[in-house]
Amino acid sequence: MVFDTVIRGAQVIDGSGGPIYTADVGILNGRIHDIAINLKGVAHEVINAAGLHLAPGFIDVHTHDDINVIDAASMPTKISQGVTTVIVGNCGISASPVHLTCAPPDPLNLLGQQHDFCYPKFSDYVAAVIRAQPSVNVGALVGHTAIRNNHMSELERSATAQELAAMCADLRQAMDDGALGLSSGLAYANAKQSSSEEVQAMTAELGRAGGIYTTHLRTEFDGILEAMDEAFITSKQGKVPLVISHLKCAGKGNWNRSEQLLNALELAAKKQTVGCDCYPYAASSSTLDLAQVTNDTDIFITWSEAEPDQAGRYLHEIAQHWQCDLIAAAKRLQPAGAVYYCMAEQDVANILRYPRTMIGSDGLPNDPHPHPRLWGTFPRVIGHYSRDTGLLPLPEAVHKMSGLSAKQFQLNGRGEIKIGNWADLVLFDYQNIRDLATFTNPKQVASGIEYVWVNGVLSYRPGQATPGRAGQFLFRQSPTTDTLLLKEKLYEH
Ligand SMILES: [Zn+2]
Repeated sequence: MVFDTVIRGAQVIDGSGGPIYTADVGILNGRIHDIAINLKGVAHEVINAAGLHLAPGFIDVHTHDDINVIDAASMPTKISQGVTTVIVGNCGISASPVHLTCAPPDPLNLLGQQHDFCYPKFSDYVAAVIRAQPSVNVGALVGHTAIRNNHMSELERSATAQELAAMCADLRQAMDDGALGLSSGLAYANAKQSSSEEVQAMTAELGRAGGIYTTHLRTEFDGILEAMDEAFITSKQGKVPLVISHLKCAGKGNWNRSEQLLNALELAAKKQTVGCDCYPYAASSSTLDLAQVTNDTDIFITWSEAEPDQAGRYLHEIAQHWQCDLIAAAKRLQPAGAVYYCMAEQDVANILRYPRTMIGSDGLPNDPHPHPRLWGTFPRVIGHYSRDTGLLPLPEAVHKMSGLSAKQFQLNGRGEIKIGNWADLVLFDYQNIRDLATFTNPKQVASGIEYVWVNGVLSYRPGQATPGRAGQFLFRQSPTTDTLLLKEKLYEH
């Protein structure tokens, strides 16, 4: 037997949540061809993995990398963390299907500028990703707010029947072209006025196509239980699986309610398919939202179009300097980005530990001073929350970043180390894995990630340029799937 690569003597964490075992793993033609103790055969490359842990490549289920997988296709932020798959299009915003005639509305502006949105059809986006050949696999949701903006002259109201029909047609086309599902961002002003009925009409369309629904809830503050109820009803009526995005108890008045939220989620899980994602930090980040401006907790300004010099300062400092109140300062800064120190550590820990929680970074790759989750999320879950604090046993931590995520998003042939699966793998040093990105110094590569393979191709080694870019576009439900074949069929004749 001649393998492309054999990884010898690794501590294998297979992604299922099961126990760790020692084995050799043989890779051939992009797949895991064999797993055994003392695997027989030779290989073009042999990696001595003694003392290292081998896990399935991590799946970042919550990203805003839509444009970056095309324009910055080497994706250092993710591959350096051991991430081999990103799900783009979360929080109601996606790069496609979008046609813009002016600057992108908030929060679509998190993804890029007007000229970056050049994918009026989902298939245009797919073709661009395939052409760019990113270093990570890409699965895509389409955003409710993005689609609203295609058909509505103003966003601060519900869609009319005619607009809604056009929105559903956009969604249907994207699903036919391989989108994984629909996301919403109902807390943002440009989606907040959409009625539950509007969203339900879209999840009904989604259900007919067999997609998944992810939602940034209508509120993460005091009314969060009601917002969760809305999400349960919306997804149940559409008969679609639900993922609540970046579940959190936001705002001081809302702290210590995580058990209440998780009980509600668990109750819903008895009747429908539900889950959630979460990032391992007690601060959030997004565009600067007037509704979230508060005296209770610190708000850090990461960028401001109107007042660029104020980036990198706290809102209260800026307000003091300008001798005005926080709201007036926030208005003057807009459009702007912010980090909100709005959560309690105990709630973050409870949500991370909850068995249905997947890890998603929610990283903002175009932010000049990004929240550290962009560069640190996955190593932090292992280094900080598994090894240092003992919150999560290692197999469980890895499961939340691989096997569970692949199952929820139906990424067949990924998420677990088993024979026949795609060879998306990360080899790391458990004693030394550590997120180094901080709130003051956020653009730092994590330590302890030794090797990363994407579809069998070595794609990361610390301190070296990324040798391989072997990411694939992950079409929805491609059961026996060889996405490479599908790619040939669709785009290379
Ligand atoms: Zn969000």
